[in-house]
Amino acid sequence: MTPYEIYAIRYAHNPNAKRSTNFIGGDPHDGPMPLDYFVWAIKGPDCNYILDTGFDAAMAAKRQRQMLQSPAVGLRAIGVEPDAVQDVILSHMHYDHCGNYDMFPNARYHLQEKEMAYCTGRCICYPGLRAPFEEEDVVAIVRKLFAGRVAFHDGVEELAPGLTLHHVGGHSKGLQFVRVWTRRGWMVLAADASHFYANMEEGRAFPIVHNHEETLAGYATMRLLSSQKNGIIPGHDPLVLARYPAAAPGLEGIVARLDADPQG
Ligand SMILES: [Zn+2]
Ligand SMILES: [Zn+2]
Repeated sequence: MTPYEIYAIRYAHNPNAKRSTNFIGGDPHDGPMPLDYFVWAIKGPDCNYILDTGFDAAMAAKRQRQMLQSPAVGLRAIGVEPDAVQDVILSHMHYDHCGNYDMFPNARYHLQEKEMAYCTGRCICYPGLRAPFEEEDVVAIVRKLFAGRVAFHDGVEELAPGLTLHHVGGHSKGLQFVRVWTRRGWMVLAADASHFYANMEEGRAFPIVHNHEETLAGYATMRLLSSQKNGIIPGHDPLVLARYPAAAPGLEGIVARLDADPQG
């Protein structure tokens, strides 16, 4: 099996998050705990896969996040031309993972069937559950569905040799993570199955949950599926760019190479 290269592309930041808002039950030692926002590129010998599409500048303004640059800038910097991408995986339908609808005009979108049902179903009746979703994001994926551009998945499915999708639920009902074969063995791109290293390492969930128990069980599932203890990449942790080298000189703070050996 040819290993894939994997990259984290950082496109936005939230400097205002606190330890107390990043764990269910808060945190006895409160203080700043900022979030980064990423999309991920999975580069293979024949084709590239993108995990999540991020949000745009208008959404950053609406949600009061710091936009750094469009995710397309980081993708192009590592030789991924968005027009040429044929497969986009959406981990789930929260606003920070599925915007930029027109960035990949030739791609098919891979989504868990449960997530589509969830974001168009009765959970949207409840303001608290609706909050991380955006009406236009949901409408955009429905339009792609009618255009024949959505592939549904249910549970665990292989997209290509060395690339599998894993329904995990918990944080959102149809959340999926991705397992990738790399030169470091099997690695897991967790997306929001663990926002920070601390969520999975300390067994303390991020406060947005559909099912708390599934969130906690997901940490163990990811550990089972990763060859190395540090082979799980959390979805929003600024430590990712501290631990992994830039993909190329000049890309510090923008693109990290995740299948490189971590630095410390
Ligand atoms: Zn989320
Ligand atoms: Zn997220």
